[in-house]
Amino acid sequence: MEQKGSAPKGAQVKILANQLYSKSQRRREQIDRIKSDADYVRFYRPEIRDNRLGPDVEGWVVGGECPFGIDCHVGQFQVNLKTGRCRCKSCESETDALGYVMQRRGLGFPQALKYLKSAG
Ligand SMILES: [Zn+2]
Repeated sequence: MEQKGSAPKGAQVKILANQLYSKSQRRREQIDRIKSDADYVRFYRPEIRDNRLGPDVEGWVVGGECPFGIDCHVGQFQVNLKTGRCRCKSCESETDALGYVMQRRGLGFPQALKYLKSAG
């Protein structure tokens, strides 16, 4: 099934969704505000596999299944509870919370933004 706005499974993803999708400086600032207001602990809670680990000093915790790669090793996908970024050491994908939710839930950019806003 073709999913709008998300990268094909197996592709290495390195995007900052706001840089990719917004045209105006003003809009980018609005998006940055939504990103900085978001509660990433709440946002990523369903994804965090072992919350006993807690975030390290920089906010990284082990996430669930990598939404980007095929056969990524368990434990290689990490989410950052401070910045909202996510990365996978297996397929080397790296993106922000918007890129993450677009891929995970097959959302377009406006829907992803709405989703992130609701996690604020
Ligand atoms: Zn991966």
